Amino acid sequence: MNILLLEHPRSVVPERCNDIANTPLSSCLLTGYAAGMLKSKGHEVEIIEGYLDGLSYDEIASRVRSAKPDILGVHIVYQWQKDDALFRFLETMKREGQVSSITAYGFYATIAHESILGTCHAVDSVIVGEPEFPFVDLAEAASIRNFIPCAPGIAIRKGTGGVRLQKQQTVTDLDALPFPVRTEAMYRLPEVNLLGSRGCYGSCTFCFINSLHGNVGSWRGRSPKNIVQEIDGIIAERGVRDFYFTDPNFFGPGRMGQERAILLASLLKQRNIRFGIEGRVNDIHDETINALVDAGLRHILIGLESGKDESLRRMNKMTTVAQNENALRVLRRHGIEPNVGFIMFEPDSRLEDLRINFDFLKRNDLLKNLSVTANVLYHHQIVLEGTRAYHDLKRENRLELQKTSYEGIAHPKNPDVAALADIMREITNLLFARMDGIWSGKMIEPPGMQERYTRVNHILVKVFENCLKAMETGERFDEDLRASVVMETGNEIHEIVNAADPGPIAEVGISKK
Ligand code: SF4
Repeated sequence: MNILLLEHPRSVVPERCNDIANTPLSSCLLTGYAAGMLKSKGHEVEIIEGYLDGLSYDEIASRVRSAKPDILGVHIVYQWQKDDALFRFLETMKREGQVSSITAYGFYATIAHESILGTCHAVDSVIVGEPEFPFVDLAEAASIRNFIPCAPGIAIRKGTGGVRLQKQQTVTDLDALPFPVRTEAMYRLPEVNLLGSRGCYGSCTFCFINSLHGNVGSWRGRSPKNIVQEIDGIIAERGVRDFYFTDPNFFGPGRMGQERAILLASLLKQRNIRFGIEGRVNDIHDETINALVDAGLRHILIGLESGKDESLRRMNKMTTVAQNENALRVLRRHGIEPNVGFIMFEPDSRLEDLRINFDFLKRNDLLKNLSVTANVLYHHQIVLEGTRAYHDLKRENRLELQKTSYEGIAHPKNPDVAALADIMREITNLLFARMDGIWSGKMIEPPGMQERYTRVNHILVKVFENCLKAMETGERFDEDLRASVVMETGNEIHEIVNAADPGPIAEVGISKK
């Protein structure tokens, strides 16, 4: 069978430019894994990198017209709004007869399969869950001209309306999967992405990782030997030495997870590579981190999420503030300054929670770097379908649904918290919009910018602190005052970024109109 797999173009609306990814990082290899599996079964597979190659739908249409695939697989990623352009493109390809069958896959497709099948008639089926085995079933069915097979993991429309889906089992033996196919575009990224494990043994209320992988406790790891075989192949073919484990949770649970990481470290050490990982704070232990750093670990993302134990319990994070602080200490002792996940604004936050969070960030030196500050002082909880938070907030009638039912906004209950969240959101959006050219790598960073980043960082911290202090003394931030704070801060940032010669750091005040 001739199969085309599409990573479609992705749009970022300006007001969401500072939001966390709309698909988990681990999904970047879904297409590659599907392609690897299909190729191993003798099918012809081509991948179109609409996103990484910056292709327009017209350019993608030409590629589809010349390939005329039996199956067009689309890794559908949520767009922060209903993606009419993608669906219109699929309808056109189907109407023109360029493709026999279209199937969607990915996190968004898994969770929103009913809505996708209900709204986009060009899509014949949706793969629900991990894509490798359902894709093989689809290709085999297509070879006998049956384009809507009923097989595990494939959702299709029922003749009588609604959707028919037979659930699939998650892949238990990850070593048995063919290595993922990587495109030239993927090799242009600063690091080669790897997936050493799937799923997570945690079940944080805001996270939908396990929606693709079955249920809670679905962490599965590849053997260290299998992982280094893949790395060796990449080094031999490409000569690259920089890797990133996109695993949602690099460490498996408990002692087994630590022992596996240490064994993997001992194998990686011999390869002379550098790599990054993502993990939970309760898995950060001295001996393991020591071994990983010795093997080339250079950066890590850890999910701190909050500086308050009650909030961590509310998020079902199954970690504590003490573990957060211990993880920071251990990592820094080994020379690693981590990237951190942090949810400053929860739907149920109170002003005192923000104070505790702010003090936690200050106490732990997490407000000194602009790229970190702009995230930790801004992030509100994003509520996506497939999470426990979505389910609970919907049941409580507190979710305002967006254009699709996939995302809900839960405004903070507390009006002061809502006001501060608005202010920080608007200011950081202005900052990201202003810096987009440089931070996206489209423009060269002018000399002297580090000094300016320090000054902008100072402004963000002070504006947060000053607003919080004012609110704690009972000051109400009505719409006019909020707009005034945003405008003045935005102007200051603009002046610093544009200044020919930055002067001394000034204090930031809050002025009423
Ligand atoms: S630890 Fe991370 S990956 Fe695991 S459930 Fe929580 S947020 Fe998701």
